[in-house]
Amino acid sequence: MKLNHDEIQENLDTRHKHLILGAGFVGLGMAQALKQADIPYDQIDASDQIGGNWYHGVYQTAHIISSRKITQFSNFPMPDHYPDFPSAKNMLDYLHNFAEHFDLRPHIELNRKVTYVRPIENNLWEVTFANEEQRIYKGVLLCNGHHWCKRFPEFEGTFNGEIIHSKDYKRPEQLKGKRVLVIGSGNSGCDVAAESARVGAKCMMSMRQSPWFIPKSFAGVPVVDLIKWWMPEWLQRLIIYSIIRLTFGTHQSYGLPEPKYRIFDRHPTLNNEVPYYIKHGRITPKPAVRRLNGWEVEFEDGSTEEFDLIVCATGFHLAYPFLPPELQRVEGSLVKCYGQVFLEDYKGLYYIGWGQVRGGVGSLISAFAPVFVRYLQLQEKINVPLGLVLKELGQKLPKTHLFDPHQMFLELKLNDVFFDFLVKKAHRVDAQHSQFSNEPLAPLSSVQETDSAKEVASGDDNKLKVSAGCRV
Ligand SMILES: Cc1cc2nc3c(=O)[nH]c(=O)nc-3n(C[C@H](O)[C@H](O)[C@H](O)COP(=O)(O)OP(=O)(O)OC[C@H]3O[C@@H](n4cnc5c(N)ncnc54)[C@H](O)[C@@H]3O)c2cc1C
Repeated sequence: MKLNHDEIQENLDTRHKHLILGAGFVGLGMAQALKQADIPYDQIDASDQIGGNWYHGVYQTAHIISSRKITQFSNFPMPDHYPDFPSAKNMLDYLHNFAEHFDLRPHIELNRKVTYVRPIENNLWEVTFANEEQRIYKGVLLCNGHHWCKRFPEFEGTFNGEIIHSKDYKRPEQLKGKRVLVIGSGNSGCDVAAESARVGAKCMMSMRQSPWFIPKSFAGVPVVDLIKWWMPEWLQRLIIYSIIRLTFGTHQSYGLPEPKYRIFDRHPTLNNEVPYYIKHGRITPKPAVRRLNGWEVEFEDGSTEEFDLIVCATGFHLAYPFLPPELQRVEGSLVKCYGQVFLEDYKGLYYIGWGQVRGGVGSLISAFAPVFVRYLQLQEKINVPLGLVLKELGQKLPKTHLFDPHQMFLELKLNDVFFDFLVKKAHRVDAQHSQFSNEPLAPLSSVQETDSAKEVASGDDNKLKVSAGCRV
């Protein structure tokens, strides 16, 4: 009699399972793919609910900027009554329904914070939890998200009011009646500024340089849905540029300088409200901050203004504070791994979902997860890490964290088509490195000792500072 996935999982030693770290959008999508392929796994999340960002990370009034069509999982459409740009609540409800529909809950443990993951003997992984429990797994899928380790600007001077990060902004009441300065012109910055324009006493937006404000929809269609897979990037740029000009006109007409970068060279800002409120005098654009002085902020153009609240919408560091320093392969905003997932020198550790894709998360995970499952099954059959195979195939480490979703869909399709070739290559590389084994790394206690010693010795070691500042 063939056992089903749940029966196989029951009583199986964790050494024969993978751990999915995180039960946000990405972790849930990966869990569904593993379950469908009958790959045994456990899933944990530090939070008391599933949903990740859509539960505990975004403000009450957030709506997605990518459309419903490209943000939903391809095998689980969002309900028909959802709007083109669902709200944070819609997103959270959707993820709960996804977990119910695919019966993912029995394998999810909540309130389970991982504090350390390290390679041990026999190519296994030791996972330590906040309550000091330890388990051994065959591999770990890192789906811990990249919108939680707050990046703050460094200010000169002191400020009498409150300074918060956009991550700490949850409800419009926090802005009500206040003189608000928003720093940053990304998507969160624009949302907070628009809300301040509605409920605050005044709102200014400090931008080091103006972004391309891309309208969320054009002629009634979400702009992201107007871009098709067959369009080369130059054509996508031209279309977006034309839409911007037709919708908003020039930057000069808003008192803003032209952006100094090409559309898509930064993560796009999709927002209609900031240009609208600038035209209504409810948002005033300002250059970068020079210094703080009591209630006053001085800007680079020499002007000064008083504020009660500064909201730093200045983004996030990418961080894996629960990994030994040797495996924190982060450089700026990217992880140095092959195929955006695999290491060349360790097998069983997978960095998933760290890229900034200018699309919706669901459709991409739906395309990625089945390909990843095939890789995982291949990894079971070979001794060398898949990253080494990809490297030997001529793949390069990523140079950017910004990804074109259509390019990624194409690459995933090609991966599927040429998978047999990859398998042959993998066995050849494997034969050349038949003695390969993960090098075990030190337990947490000895890393903490070295860490604090190093932090004292080299105060400017950014990796240490980021991981120290972003302990989970
Ligand atoms: C304001 C805002 C708007 C956005 N708009 C869009 C949009 O329009 N479209 C879109 O596609 N995406 C959008 N995003 C991106 C959003 O992050 C993704 O949609 C999605 O939430 C990413 O899922 P994830 O699983 O990678 O990360 P998360 O949702 O952050 O989930 C990660 C999970 O890992 C858990 N975790 C982390 N560390 C540990 C640990 N040590 N131990 C145990 N558990 C841990 C966390 O508790 C969390 O539940 C937006 C993000 C923000 C902040």
